[in-house]
Amino acid sequence: MKGTLMTRNILWAGLALAAVVCGSAGAQQTSPLQFFQPDLEAPPVALTVHFAATGETRAIAGRELLAGSREMYLRSATVATLLNAGRFWDSGMRRLELKVGQVGFTVTADSRLVTTSEGQTLLPVPVLDNRGDLWLPLTLLVDVVGPALGDRLRWDAQTRRLTLGVPEYTVLRLRSEILGRATAVHIHCRDPLGYRTESPQPGVIELKIYGGDVNAAAVGQTRRRGLLLSARSRQQRDDAVITFRVDDLVSRYRTYTADEGREIVLVLEEEQIASMPAPVPRGRAQVNIDAAPRDITHVEELRTVVIDPGHGGHDVGAVGPHGILEKDVNLAVARELRSWLKRESDLEVVLTRERDEHQDLAARAEAANLADGDLFISLHCNSWFNDSAHGLETYFLSPAQSDWAKSVEAAENAAGGGAPADDVEFIVWELVQNRFISASSHLAETIQAQVTSDLDVPDRGVRQAGFRVLVGAYMPAVLVEMGFVSHAGEERRLGDRRYQQRLAASLGRAVLAYREATALVEVEADDGEEDHGGWE
Ligand SMILES: [Zn+2]
Repeated sequence: MKGTLMTRNILWAGLALAAVVCGSAGAQQTSPLQFFQPDLEAPPVALTVHFAATGETRAIAGRELLAGSREMYLRSATVATLLNAGRFWDSGMRRLELKVGQVGFTVTADSRLVTTSEGQTLLPVPVLDNRGDLWLPLTLLVDVVGPALGDRLRWDAQTRRLTLGVPEYTVLRLRSEILGRATAVHIHCRDPLGYRTESPQPGVIELKIYGGDVNAAAVGQTRRRGLLLSARSRQQRDDAVITFRVDDLVSRYRTYTADEGREIVLVLEEEQIASMPAPVPRGRAQVNIDAAPRDITHVEELRTVVIDPGHGGHDVGAVGPHGILEKDVNLAVARELRSWLKRESDLEVVLTRERDEHQDLAARAEAANLADGDLFISLHCNSWFNDSAHGLETYFLSPAQSDWAKSVEAAENAAGGGAPADDVEFIVWELVQNRFISASSHLAETIQAQVTSDLDVPDRGVRQAGFRVLVGAYMPAVLVEMGFVSHAGEERRLGDRRYQQRLAASLGRAVLAYREATALVEVEADDGEEDHGGWE
């Protein structure tokens, strides 16, 4: 309870804390009155009271009686009427008891102490005696009386609106599921609501849903499921807050939305930072990219490049510590890359999305195929629990994966709002994408080498992964993780227009270098030569 009060008003937090620390229980408390003077002439302020149960609205008058505290005060008579409470005044002790049903709250003039049958609570500001009329701080109602009654009273300072009673819930249910080494938690809402996640301490993730009214009884989990140990929800003023306790093994999490934004999905992933593998392709479909590509006859002359800015719309992708959104960086670099290629070459360039809009992964691949693309480049930004991770990675499609690639793949696939690539798609890949595997890996290598030499960015290597966005593309395809928005320095650079232009120019040079190399090999292939010396 004290925690709630202290966070409510930062101005008072220090004072209240000092009082708690310095004063022993029952001893006289330091009065904030010595820091702030009551302003009994403060003009009345019109407030709106909304009764959620009946929908009725009423206007009342409040006053900011404590100069500088910004705390709203209400007459005790008004409060008693609102709560349908009995008032019992002890003039000798200057003490008032408010009785709501069976529950009593006792306050004293010029004191911050509230006594209930549950114990005592210290308010951040005192009850004030205004010429014999007792005025109560709003915090008493919202933070003490409301919770004690199991009811919620909410105060919106901006609209000066006090809501009494339980409104209709908008944050409805929580469901978790185990997906291999990851655990997905689905939070179902009535409406699409804005949200934010943060990890205040290791093993704890907090999800704040703005404007959400949470059904705390239904949105929670007491037993362990996969990597999720427990989930608990609470109402924090106008927002719903869900606290997740997660397994120590979790070192990475992501969120995305589904169902038109009405479902928030938190994906917990198990990944040891220490064991982040080196970018060495392995598995049953290893590709030796130094060797001559066997499928070179399938490389068409390069005419059309499809650029796919990852995410978009309500799917924001990764979010940097200073608020940079991956979707915006992806789109900005995609546009710059198109401009560069148009200026420096005769290539056709198609973007899978032009605006900040959501598009599912199948539609992106389909758009690429319809455009008769010869190359598919998906642009993304990375994110990692450990904010020191940074650098550039380029992926090409393959069924063989390193653990790290698997983790990135799971997160990027999750953004599609669908299930991970299923067997059918895997077979499609076997039939179709196999033809392009060498070309794709070569494109990935070219991009990785070009960008890391043009820009001062660490080389995290070329990797293989089974990204869904690459599965449906009938052309050599790569996915570039241009940097980590979770790294403060890279977040700043990725959001910088000039850096975006340099990155785009470098990607463009890689595309032209790739075109030159493949054109050379094609000529040799046409000559029927076995040794494709021109490849590297
Ligand atoms: Zn992404």
